[in-house]
This record gives sequence, C-alpha cells and structure tokens, in this order.
Amino acid sequence: PRKGAGGGASTCTTCPYCGVGCGVIATPDFTAPTPRVEIAGDTDHPANFGRLCVKGMALGETVSTEGRLLHPQVYGQKAGWSQTLDLVASRFAKTIEKHGPDSVALYVSGQLLSEDYYVANKLMKGFVGSANIDTNSRLCMASSVAGHKRAFGTDTVPGTYEDLEEADLVVLTGSNLAWCHPVLYQRIAAAKAARPTMRVVNIDPRRTATCDLSDLHLPLAPGSDVALFNGLLAAIAKSGAVDDSFVETHVNGFDAALAAAQAVDLSVCDLDAGDIATFFDWFCSTEKTVTVYSQGVNQSSAGADKVNAILNCHLATGRIGRAGMGPFSVTGQPNAMGGREVGGLANMLACHLDLENANHRDAVQGFWNAPVMADKAGLKAVDMFEAVGSGKIKAIWIICTNPVVSMPDADAVKAALEGCDFVVVSDMYATTDTARLAHVVLPATGWGEKDGTVTNSERRISRQRAFLPSAGESRHDWDILSDVARRMGFSGFEYERPVDIFREYAALSGLAAHLGRDFDISGLKDITDAEYEALQPVQWPVSTVKTGGRFFGQGGFFTEDGRARMLPVTHRPPQGKRARKYPMWLNTGRVRDHWHTMTRTALSARLGGHLAEPFLEIHPVDAKALGLKPASLADVTSPRGTATLRVLVTDRLRQGEVFAPMHWTGETAPTGRIDALVAPIVDPVSGQPESKATPVRVSPHSAA
Ligand code: SF4
Repeated sequence: PRKGAGGGASTCTTCPYCGVGCGVIATPDFTAPTPRVEIAGDTDHPANFGRLCVKGMALGETVSTEGRLLHPQVYGQKAGWSQTLDLVASRFAKTIEKHGPDSVALYVSGQLLSEDYYVANKLMKGFVGSANIDTNSRLCMASSVAGHKRAFGTDTVPGTYEDLEEADLVVLTGSNLAWCHPVLYQRIAAAKAARPTMRVVNIDPRRTATCDLSDLHLPLAPGSDVALFNGLLAAIAKSGAVDDSFVETHVNGFDAALAAAQAVDLSVCDLDAGDIATFFDWFCSTEKTVTVYSQGVNQSSAGADKVNAILNCHLATGRIGRAGMGPFSVTGQPNAMGGREVGGLANMLACHLDLENANHRDAVQGFWNAPVMADKAGLKAVDMFEAVGSGKIKAIWIICTNPVVSMPDADAVKAALEGCDFVVVSDMYATTDTARLAHVVLPATGWGEKDGTVTNSERRISRQRAFLPSAGESRHDWDILSDVARRMGFSGFEYERPVDIFREYAALSGLAAHLGRDFDISGLKDITDAEYEALQPVQWPVSTVKTGGRFFGQGGFFTEDGRARMLPVTHRPPQGKRARKYPMWLNTGRVRDHWHTMTRTALSARLGGHLAEPFLEIHPVDAKALGLKPASLADVTSPRGTATLRVLVTDRLRQGEVFAPMHWTGETAPTGRIDALVAPIVDPVSGQPESKATPVRVSPHSAA
C-alpha cells in the first residue's frame, strides 16, 4: 500500500453517496491535530476508472468527529451501551408481546451496507415475524423494482455501465445524470467525444445540466412519460423495428401492450411534433440504444407503469442484454441495490425471493432456523409513518436516515414520531431533525469507520473498508442490531465480523438460485477472511458457473415460463390537481454538491460554495406575473405547508412549473423543508411517492 503525507496507509473503498458506486482511495493523515484524509479516485475500479465527482473529491472534508454522537443517549441523557440496548430490546419485546409483531417497525436506508441491511431484514421478517421493515429506497427506486418484477419476473438490471458507452443512442429520461450521477455522465460524455456519431436524447421537463450533452431535449409535461413511450412503441411497430423473432421466442403480451400504445394521445406530452418524430425515428433506426431512467420516472403515482412503458419498447425491439442495448435504471443511493438484494423492502424476501411464495418463505425460514416468518407484505414507507401517527405502530427504530426531512408530508411524519410511544434512532449525529425526536439515540459508525459491501447500479459489489477508528463509543449497525436480537432471546445473530454475515448471505443466495431466482453470489459463500478483505469489485451473478455480464440477451427471464411480459399501460396524469388556489406544479430534486438532508455534505465549505441556500427555479413569465424579482424571497404553499425560498428566475423550466431542491431544512427563511409540502400520494403498485408533481401557489414572501 502507498503511504500518504502523514504516513497513513491507503485504503481502497467505495464512495458513500450515489448509486454509481465509485472506487475511492483514502489516505488518512493521523499526524494532523484532527485526522485529515486525502482522497483520490481508484483507477482500477470499473465504475469510475479513477474519476470522482466533486462530492466524492470532498469526502475527506466530511469525516471530522466534530458534532458526532459519541455515546448512547436515553431520554437526552448519556447512557451506557448495555443498559441502553437492554431498554431497546425489552421495549420492543414487550410491545410485540402485548400488541403483536406488526406493532413494531424498522425504517432503514440505502446508505446501510449489505451486511447491516441483511441483519435488519432477518431480525424483522424471520424473528419478530413482521415485514414492517421498509427503507428510504422506497422514495428512490421502488417503481423500478416493481416494473422489473412485472416484466422479468425478478428485479434484474440487465446491463452494465459499458452499455452506456457502447450505445449509438442514449436516451436519458427523468434523469439529471450530470448532477445526480456525475461520473456516469462523464463516461457518456467521454464516449460521445470519442465517437461523435453517438446521439443523446434528454427527456425532462427541465433543461438541466445534462442537456449540455444532448442532441435533442424533450421538455415533456410532468407525468406524461407513459404516453410518450406508448407513442414510441406504436412507432416501433409502424416502422418495422419490432424484433419478431425475439418477441415470438421470448415475450408474452406484445399484442395487448401494442393495442394500449396505439390508443395514445400524444398531445398530453405538450411537445413539439417534429421533436417527437425525430426521437421516434432515432430510436426505431438505432439498434444500439440504451434508455437510462431514474427519479423523474420512479417518483410518480404512475411510476411502475412508466417503467413498464420503457421496458416494453426494449422488449419489442429485442434490445436488451446485448452490448450497447437495454433499459437501465440508475439507483439514487450507494446501496439501494444491495437493499433490494437483501430484501430490505417491506414486500420482499432476502435474495430476490418472494414473500408471497410459500416455498420461498419456507426455504428462508429453514435456512435461518427462524421461529416465525412474516407471511404478508409489511407497511411501505408512507403507510408505515401513517401507522405510527395512528398509533398502530407503537415502537419504531429508524436507522441511518432522516424521514422528518425527506418523507412526503414531512410535518405529519414529525407529528407521528412526536406521538409515538417509543422511537429509537441510530445515527452518526443526535442533531438531525429525526434524532431530536427519539427517546433513544444510538451512535453508529460512519463512512471510513465501517466495513462491508455495497452494490451499485450495474450489480457490482464493492467493499467499503474502514480506515479510521470508530468515533467515541459508536458501533456498527449490524453489531447493534445483532446485540438487540440476542437480548430479545433470538439465536442466529452471533456474528463477530461483517464477513460472517456475508458468507451466510452468499450461501442463502445459492438457495435462492436453486429456486429460480437471479441473485446468486453463492460462488462467494466459502470466501475466507483474507479473500473478503481483498475482495475486488465484482458484478453478480457470482455463481460456480458464471461471473458478471448481462442478462436476457438470449431470453431466460425469471418468470414461470421463462418469457418476459410486456404490459398494457395507459397514461395517468399526476394525482394532485392544479386548481385556482394551487395553479403551479412543484418539482423536487437534487443539486450537484449536496447529498440527501446534508448531514455530511454541509460539513464541506467547498460543497456549500456551489449553492449556499435553498432556491426556487421559476420561469421569467411566471416571475413577472407574480411580481417576483431575482434573488427575492418567495413563499411556496401547498395544502400541507409553506416553504420560503430564494427566487432563481430561469427559462430552464416550463411555464407554470417550479423546481426546488430537497436537501435543506431549517426553521428560518429561507427555509427549504420542501418535502413538508409534498402530499403522501403513492404509486398503487410500488408504493413510491409522487415527489415530482405537487400543486402549489407561489407568492412574494410575506414576513407576517
Ligand atoms: Fe460518489 Fe456518485 Fe460522485 Fe461517484 S459519481 S464520486 S459514487 S457521488
């Protein structure tokens, strides 16, 4: 290992922010008064080949222990670990005994490592006997999971990052890749620079930074994606671009999906007809096409249908699982994919097994030697916090996430936690809006202190490695969860290190593969301690016969008959209604230099320098009509609340629509606790909230 300036050895690890999953080389300097960490991109990591975005480059500025929670706290008082975990275990056990297993819940995070996630899921589903475990990944990519399962039989991302570089046409839809997955954007930009015939189409109501790369921008009306992709499917059929052989051999449902598509009314997209024709022509005539999509598609009351509308076009053309072709959902969080794999969603079992399938449940219960097994889906995020508010859930443990800021209807989430009998929060900080409401706060280790694995958007498993000592008395999440499980009297949680969990998880995946599931890392079930320590990034499957690569190029879908399913889908507009009182659409999203609720990125002055405060993007015509001057303050109001934001007048978005970032909180103006305005409307299939289309009114700020 190379040595840094302060003599500390370098460690290969993985960035803890977005789902690109870049490899990072961290070199701590322990000679400084507080440890400094030099950061570099890992040139050997296949996700980034040495590149890092500005958030990744600033990681060294976010590892200070200043402000960290260093000891357990019980009712605001410092406490010892043993008495605190006894309290947590006994309160959960007593609540379960009195009110049943569904009276408790875990709410976790795509920031957790797979080993943490696996233990949390095992505890709830196999030992507590409830599937009331859900995750902030519900807000991020649940619609993609649902769409994949409906079309492929499993939640499988078919392709690899290389496909984005090898494609002749890259369609980016609902994805501001330049800001939200910057290194993937850089990879496409580099490929396009080297091969100028490559085309990029950007489908987004806003003209984001990603448009710098686009040959065509389609600023479609919010929520009209299904109509656009249905129109595309009809055009595919009309132009003769259907791959008849692939459809005949590998796909069901073509006729019904096409009939639904041909009934489309493209006027709902509010796009220039010539631009639509150009997009359809490029797609139909370009064999090597990849469609990348993320939150603009997923965060919708029709999110799963949008995903299936996209998948339909790739299944009809047979452009899936081959070099430079395929649908590609990019995940928001560093381990959203790992959370899906361990079954961290309320409607999933571990290793892509199905909660509703009795054979699958029996197999997992037998493998875990579990006393009980959840046999029905638990409450998804929005329903979970509503159940906290109604008193149905009486004890909740929130790990590594800040729902009081990030959930829709955030003020109701806050009120629900304020009224809950027992709230436990595991976090690095006791100062988050959520931790401040907890009866018990448990200090958890953070990036640089913990060990385990994460899976990125292309199914690549990478190690996160520790290179710093744990802050204060903080402990790893898997360790805290296992300790509580043991104190509740459960056996099967005697793990000493993350590798113990990983081996068990890999062995379970072999069982899942035997039951016809896609997720298989059984080739790693006998991994030695030293091999785990040295594990290089590897794309699953990692079975005894196959490692990495694409899925479905030759069919082989994970449905009962091995054929993919095209679904008939029809356009449904956003469920919120614009009316005279709330005449504008509010769209929410990320900015380039901040992450989630800023608990870490706000520690970096460099990152804060990009955009120092929350803002409201508004079209010049709307700003003038409302009497809003650039940099003045505006109040944005929905039926649920008001945020006060700095006005940014720009023609980058459509008239009648405004955009605000989702990161900021705060009690004084400008205050951007924007999710307090968003209604808890969800997709009926995926349970993912509609975070991109909230009816609001905008007015000059009133100090009153
Ligand atoms: Fe980290 Fe994502 Fe940036 Fe890569 S692109 S350095 S994973 S935030």
